[in-house]
Amino acid sequence: MSDTPKKQAFVLRVLQEKCPKCGEGHVFVQNSSFFSLPVMNDHCEKCAYRFDREPGYFLGAMYLSYGFAVLQGIITFFLALFLFPDLPTFWSIFLVLIVILIFGRKNYKLSRVLYIHIFPW
Ligand SMILES: [Zn+2]
Repeated sequence: MSDTPKKQAFVLRVLQEKCPKCGEGHVFVQNSSFFSLPVMNDHCEKCAYRFDREPGYFLGAMYLSYGFAVLQGIITFFLALFLFPDLPTFWSIFLVLIVILIFGRKNYKLSRVLYIHIFPW
């Protein structure tokens, strides 16, 4: 028997920022302002699963977020190199920084949700 549906469910739950236990509750508060830091719910609203287990639990998520930012920066740099071969290095770096800033909020949320799913209690 294939475990593909399980993997798809895992990826969907992470991308939709859902609870790792029930897959229905939201990890982050909905309707928060785009310009503020995302706020996590303490518990899942459906199954009461506690998201923040202990102080410092999400330190590991920083490494995931860093990895996402580096990956996005590398992809952006090579895309800029491919699409605009005459672009000066300064503008390539500037473009990379802009992309990292744009995706920063999503990286923050994605890294925490992925961390919860990788290391559930
Ligand atoms: Zn739940």
